[in-house]
Amino acid sequence: MGLLFAVVVLLAATVWVVRGWRTRGRRRLAATGPGSTMERAIPVRSFDEIDRIVAARRCGCGRPLRSTGEGARQLGAQRFRLTRLACDDCEEETVIYFDVTELVH
Ligand SMILES: [Zn+2]
Repeated sequence: MGLLFAVVVLLAATVWVVRGWRTRGRRRLAATGPGSTMERAIPVRSFDEIDRIVAARRCGCGRPLRSTGEGARQLGAQRFRLTRLACDDCEEETVIYFDVTELVH
């Protein structure tokens, strides 16, 4: 009985630690990963690609993100598009930058 209890506690602790890693990993990705800044903008060739990337992006807490707005930026000859995202669960907000210089019209 004591051993079973120890195993359950160990499993629960493992799940908890792994979940923490995942959350931190996602937050780090959101802060420094592809699309986090204009310098790291994700190059895309179509608006469909933007939609796909936005749909696949998850919040640090693991929930899907909701698009709250869009914007456009220009840096010399480079054109950017940014999508603002918010989480309904923890109210975390992120922005993804896309490099649309090569966008096919
Ligand atoms: Zn969240």
